[in-house]
Amino acid sequence: MRIGLDVGGTKILAALTDDEGRVVASVRRPTGWGADAVVDGIAAAVAALTGGAAPGSVGIGVPGQIAPGGVVRHALNLGIDELDLAAAVAERIGVRPAVDNDVRAAAVGAAALLPDADSIAFLNLGTGVAAGIVRDGMPWRGARGAAGEIGHVSVDPAGPACPCGQRGCIEALAGGAGVAARWATPGSLPVADVFDAADAGDPVASTIRGEVVQGVAAAAQLLVLTADVDVVVLGGGVSHLGERLRGPVRAALRHAASGSAFLRSLDLADRVVPVPGGVPVGAVGAALLGLAAAEAVSGV
Ligand SMILES: [Zn+2]
Repeated sequence: MRIGLDVGGTKILAALTDDEGRVVASVRRPTGWGADAVVDGIAAAVAALTGGAAPGSVGIGVPGQIAPGGVVRHALNLGIDELDLAAAVAERIGVRPAVDNDVRAAAVGAAALLPDADSIAFLNLGTGVAAGIVRDGMPWRGARGAAGEIGHVSVDPAGPACPCGQRGCIEALAGGAGVAARWATPGSLPVADVFDAADAGDPVASTIRGEVVQGVAAAAQLLVLTADVDVVVLGGGVSHLGERLRGPVRAALRHAASGSAFLRSLDLADRVVPVPGGVPVGAVGAALLGLAAAEAVSGV
């Protein structure tokens, strides 16, 4: 039994998979707040899938910075400042889990569903913006675990102010939090609300929609020009806009390439693809990372 857990700010999605990462069963439960509640939630989700039997391997994707060995730092939306999550979960379920960043885990899950791509960047469009880069099925973490943290690359010096102190960061343009701050209209889905209002002719919404598209297009171009990945996968909550987002992003990339034979040669627009539908890529990727770690330990 391979288990993967995608631990988010509000819910834990846990999936039982086969060795190829196909989902056999899944459960969903509230995350809870603080280290004890998060560990309780993970243990309960695992027990719900295994019926109390020991799983073969476990992987966990969790927001925040992840130090080698499974220590989670600065997972602010879980109420965790620092926690040795791997040790805490191992104590509860009897198996030491592999722990990685949630975006990186989702990137591994998405890559498993795109077998024709040797390398992908998974661009997570949520409250914030970050990417996970995967090559040959495994994540590229970088020297300090920061590979893909492109949210605070400024791509427009005249763009909206970002809490980090710069202007026109990719995250300020296209992140849900930045959009919500500029739209300033109550609603649980600010980016979708902005797109609806823009469609209805609201000029402020239209401007913000343009900034979202600009930010996503810049992120895609940055990822291709940095890592030359086969495809950039649009994922995260904002990506549920589907073609309403992807269409304008591709148009913006084509426009940018119209005056550059170099950019045209890279087919940027055609390399932006949607996340494969109907699969919990975060949990699936976590399960695959758990399996890979277990095989590394056993020397398979
Ligand atoms: Zn910033």
